[in-house]
This record gives sequence, C-alpha cells and structure tokens, in this order.
Amino acid sequence: MISGHRIVLASNNKGKLREFSELLSGLHFEVVPQAQLGVSEADETGLTFVENAIIKARHAAKATGLPALADDSGIEVDALNGAPGIYSARFSGAGATDQENNALLLQKLKDTPDAERTARYQCIIVFLRNAEDPTPVICQGSWEGTILHAPRGNGGFGYDPLFFVPTHGCSSAELDPAEKNRISHRGIALRALLEALKKQPVSDRAN
Ligand code: IMP
Repeated sequence: MISGHRIVLASNNKGKLREFSELLSGLHFEVVPQAQLGVSEADETGLTFVENAIIKARHAAKATGLPALADDSGIEVDALNGAPGIYSARFSGAGATDQENNALLLQKLKDTPDAERTARYQCIIVFLRNAEDPTPVICQGSWEGTILHAPRGNGGFGYDPLFFVPTHGCSSAELDPAEKNRISHRGIALRALLEALKKQPVSDRAN
C-alpha cells in the first residue's frame, strides 16, 4: 500500500522535475523535490546509471528519513562509443549548460554522416524505502533516435533539441510534453516502477 506517503525526489534538474510532476500527478502519495527539504546534491561517483541513481536516492533518504526516488539518465551516441552516457550533464565540464553540451555534441559529430548518427536516451529509476534498504527497486527505460545537425524546438530540456524521434518525424523538443512522457525513456522507466511498487509496501524496512 503506498497511499498517504511522502517520498523525496532526489533531483534538482528542472526539466526532470517538471516531467516527474506530470508523470506522478494524481497518485496517492506526495513526491517532494529534495531542494524543498534542504537536501544538497550528491556526488555522482558511480560508473553506471544504476550506481549513480542509488547514490542519489540513498543520499536523499539519509538526509530526510523519507523513502527516495532518483533518476539517473543520459544520452548514448553510437558514433562516440556511447559517450556522453553517464557524463551527459557534465559533457562539456562541471556546471555546463544544456547549450554548451549541445554545442560540443554537434562539434564532435560534425563529420558524422546521417546513417551513423544513431543514439538513445537511457533512464534508470531507483526507489529506496530507506537509506539502508538492501533491495532497491530498479527500473529502466530507453528511447531510440538520431542526432540532428542543428537544434529544433523549444520544449523539453538537455539534448532534446538535437534528438530526432524517427517515429514522430520531429525532435524531442518539438513533441507535446504529454507525448514525450508517453514514449520517453523516463516515462517507460517510471511507469515500470509504479507497477512494481503496487506489488510491495513502501513502508520502512531496515533489512
Ligand atoms: P543526471 O542528472 O546526472 O541524471 O543527468 C542527466 C542528463 O542527461 C541531463 O542533464 C541531460 O543532459 C541528459 N538527459 C537525460 N534525460 C533527458 C531528456 O529527457 N531530455 C534531454 N536530455 C536528457
């Protein structure tokens, strides 16, 4: 049973928070962004999306005493051997803006022909009942596309203006937000998580 619970959301990324609030609206538990509870950013020292999502969720659960939800996500570009991957937010350096990251991606792909510009978004979502939870609930979603030669659209965040969605013939920044949530890596992972949570209690469990 998950109704009536408060859960801390371990992210400060405005784009992610917006998508989470849309995806989680109407549920019977309250999801509070970590900044509202005074939680600092965790150091993402893992080498995988799974490790980083656990690090973020554990940090927020420890700081608040609440169950925690975290997303670690990024874009894998085949012509760059999967880069930027887990380093997507800091592709062009610590504290990089989305514009700087997008500019670097375009520059690295400037000689890459269309057929080799395949890419995908990855999202891992982790739910921890408490900071010591030994059995995190972990769900994954991925979303296939290609990298455009110039930005298109004003929606979304991050690499969305450069991510072409073949099924819809537009960039992910040109999609209606509800449609992005319906088909995106994050939407897929979060819906899987919600299904998994229906089957088990959220309540504290030390071991
Ligand atoms: P994280 O906060 O360390 O998980 O970094 C995620 C980064 O991956 C974001 O800062 C974006 O650069 C990129 N990213 C993840 N999901 C999306 C998305 O849905 N659209 C665009 N960029 C995304």
